[in-house]
Amino acid sequence: MYPEVLLHIDGAWVKGSGGADLPVLNPATGEPVGRVPVATRDDLDRALAAAAAGFETWRKVSSFDRYKLMRKAADILRSRADEIARVMTTEQGKPLVEAKGETLAGADIIDWFAEEARRAYGRVIPPRAEGVWQLVVKEPVGPVAAFTPWNFPINQAVRKVSAALAAGCSVILKGPEETPASCAALVQAYLDAGLPKGVVNLVFGVPAEISEYLIPSPIIRKISFTGSTAVGKHLAALAGKHMKRVTMELGGHAPAIVFEDADVDLAAKILSANKFRNAGQVCVSPTRFLVHESVYDAFVDKFVGFAKAVKVGNGLDKETRMGPLANARRVDAIEGFVADAVQRGAKVRTGGKRIGNKGFFFEPTVLTDVPREARIMNEEPFGPVAPIMPFRDYKSVVEEANRLPYGLAAYAYTRSAKTAAAIGADLETGMVSINHHGLALPEVPFGGVKDSGYGSEGGAEAIEAYLVTKFVTQLGV
Ligand code: NAD
Repeated sequence: MYPEVLLHIDGAWVKGSGGADLPVLNPATGEPVGRVPVATRDDLDRALAAAAAGFETWRKVSSFDRYKLMRKAADILRSRADEIARVMTTEQGKPLVEAKGETLAGADIIDWFAEEARRAYGRVIPPRAEGVWQLVVKEPVGPVAAFTPWNFPINQAVRKVSAALAAGCSVILKGPEETPASCAALVQAYLDAGLPKGVVNLVFGVPAEISEYLIPSPIIRKISFTGSTAVGKHLAALAGKHMKRVTMELGGHAPAIVFEDADVDLAAKILSANKFRNAGQVCVSPTRFLVHESVYDAFVDKFVGFAKAVKVGNGLDKETRMGPLANARRVDAIEGFVADAVQRGAKVRTGGKRIGNKGFFFEPTVLTDVPREARIMNEEPFGPVAPIMPFRDYKSVVEEANRLPYGLAAYAYTRSAKTAAAIGADLETGMVSINHHGLALPEVPFGGVKDSGYGSEGGAEAIEAYLVTKFVTQLGV
């Protein structure tokens, strides 16, 4: 049932010209379920030529026609959500309900950008002299190279591809080798909606080789990357060297603050659900839990109760609420984070170990008494581990929340309007969600500050990243 995965270049699904491929594993079993082709330089050259030609075609399609085609692609994706969800769960591990939700959310994102295509307005600036027209025009930046990871195989790709298409750009998408088939299903939905050839090209292979070849190419005018901060900095430097525009959605280490006047039950319920969603492999996952000392014990008890109740298993089983980690690297990494914290004095309140020796399962884990020096308090864990620490006063919790170079998401729970307003202003992150989990809707901005990157992949800001501003001044004749 796992589909054959191919590259999509210049309107055709093809094998890599060198014949090489890589295995795709089912993280629930650790067994191969398929193969993904490795693109060669020849393949990349053909993708570049196709993207250049595709751009000339697509930029001339009116925004109204782009809108219609994109709405059709969204409907096609929606109609295939059940089938795509099974494929995504097989290659990525997340529970079916999350995989289907991601696919449907992907369709909503396409709809949003379709509508944005029609609103890529310029403006007219009042002139200093009679008869002069001063026009500000928005034009597509050009062919885009987009690099997307394995944690949300559709959603990470759909934001970049759809914003680019809405703006009139063509794309070479370097999809995730570990979860290629659901990403290919997204491209197929666009093709079935009638996207002309060359406008979207999909490649897989050796990530560093592909980025180092595509980014310097004079054909590529814009880079968008989602992944770790270390890789993001490397790609941003390469893009800078070649004067390419960039959007960087990088790692996070979201503080989740529970104040003394919070609804503790609500906070524990919402934060635990979001901690263990996608087994914690989410860039906006709540990560450093900072809880006022007066409600600390009550919060920890509740949170541990929720963690223990999470049903872990194969994502294809209906009862499963948390699947395996997406790959063996994550299990090793999470074991390392827990061992380091314990060695420095942390207490394991629940979980702490991998489950079985088949697949990449790890227990939902809660740690307390974690010293600030522990690696998990400083590096992005990207897994199902919640370190919970007490705090005494507002000033110290803000200091701790802003201590790290990351600045993606933050969460806070309080019944005080004054504290809510203050914390919303004081946190150095691109997104703050207070008393609920309200991030990542298509119509709201999505992006970070500091080492979490720059640019937004949601809201009205997102299409801007794929547009350039041209000024035309004209004296009427
Ligand atoms: P990684 O840092 O090597 O890879 C992260 C992503 O970047 C992958 O999709 C990979 O294919 C891609 N990548 C790596 N090197 C690249 C290069 N030179 N050029 C282009 N793309 C490149 O490691 P990983 O083990 O896959 O993930 C480790 C960490 O990455 C995680 O702990 C997490 O912090 C971060 N990550 C973040 C996100 C996110 O949504 N922001 C998603 C996946 C991984």
